[in-house]
Amino acid sequence: MTFPEKVDYVIVGAGIHGLSTAWHFAVKLKARGKCDGSKIVVIDKDSIAAGASGIACGVVRNNYYQPAMRELMTLCVDVWESDAKNLHYHNVGYMQISPKCMEEDVAEIFAQQ
Ligand SMILES: Cc1cc2nc3c(=O)[nH]c(=O)nc-3n(C[C@H](O)[C@H](O)[C@H](O)COP(=O)(O)OP(=O)(O)OC[C@H]3O[C@@H](n4cnc5c(N)ncnc54)[C@H](O)[C@@H]3O)c2cc1C
Repeated sequence: MTFPEKVDYVIVGAGIHGLSTAWHFAVKLKARGKCDGSKIVVIDKDSIAAGASGIACGVVRNNYYQPAMRELMTLCVDVWESDAKNLHYHNVGYMQISPKCMEEDVAEIFAQQ
């Protein structure tokens, strides 16, 4: 694409967060009748998914200790499960191996899940 000379919104970084921000922002602006997304540009010093997003293992795990993270992961899983076939989502569960000092925390996370 040709680089626009003027845009209203610039998002720096074309990893999963930058692209997700751009997409959700475009949806919100469109809903408010402000623009159709064409005024948002995502720029990257390298290319799309050049950073961590391009090398992530593809695992959606929900064994974080912070309750807010688990809530976020639950919402993510809802998205993945909404179209599991096309998104290639396979729910396989997980096995966690931890040192003894983490056992209580791991049990607490499991109970909260
Ligand atoms: C080996 C590995 C495995 C992982 N596995 C998983 C997993 O299985 N499941 C999971 O949920 N998470 C996983 N993660 C974590 C996950 O990949 C990251 O949390 C996520 O990709 C971060 O996305 P991001 O958009 O914030 O950053 P990035 O994907 O790193 O994107 C940042 C972008 O910004 C660009 N950029 C940086 N500086 C500038 C600048 N000055 N100007 C312009 N562009 C710039 C970079 O080129 C890059 O494209 C893994 C991470 C790694 C490293």
